[in-house]
Amino acid sequence: MARAFIGFGGNIGDTRQLITDAIICLAQRRELQILAKSCFYQSAPVDAAGGDYINSVIEIETQLSPYGLLHVCQAVEQEFGRERPYANAPRTLDLDILAFEGISQNEVELTLPHPRIIERSFVLLPLLEIAPDFFLPNIGKLQAYLPKVAHQRIEKLPCRNCSCIEKDVSTQVAH
Ligand code: ADP
Ligand code: MG
Repeated sequence: MARAFIGFGGNIGDTRQLITDAIICLAQRRELQILAKSCFYQSAPVDAAGGDYINSVIEIETQLSPYGLLHVCQAVEQEFGRERPYANAPRTLDLDILAFEGISQNEVELTLPHPRIIERSFVLLPLLEIAPDFFLPNIGKLQAYLPKVAHQRIEKLPCRNCSCIEKDVSTQVAH
């Protein structure tokens, strides 16, 4: 079993609902179990078009390979209407693998850990919420990178149904 983190983001439509539905979609797959889910965050676009983004991060355990997980993430993006008209276009739902165990690889189709993991507050904050001591080989403790992203506008949204969602997800996973 491998432990991995997936980051969600979007800025078209009801992104909170889309992320919630996408997580339920993932939870129904036998090949992965959801261990934790962060609250939602609202962030200013960084090098991207459109309005504010909604972001969240989950921690999973999976029997899938890194590429197997990437294909699952891409299938979910497609199901939720993701289109790629141009680079960094506004998006309904983006799923990125932030880290997969301690694997480090630099392939165009799958770079691990995600190249922007330490450069974006919308990744660091939700990730550190669910894994405060998270550490990566060659990168170190992610906490240390928070000051570098302190200028990026981000707000943690009130955890409307957060604990309920987690319960729902784990109930589905357990049965
Ligand atoms: P963005 O880089 O803004 O997330 P896309 O979601 O369109 O843009 O992804 C572009 C490509 O990035 C995908 O075709 C995918 O194969 C590749 N990619 C490389 N590393 C990763 C990763 N860690 N997680 C998800 N996609 C990745
Ligand atoms: Mg992506």
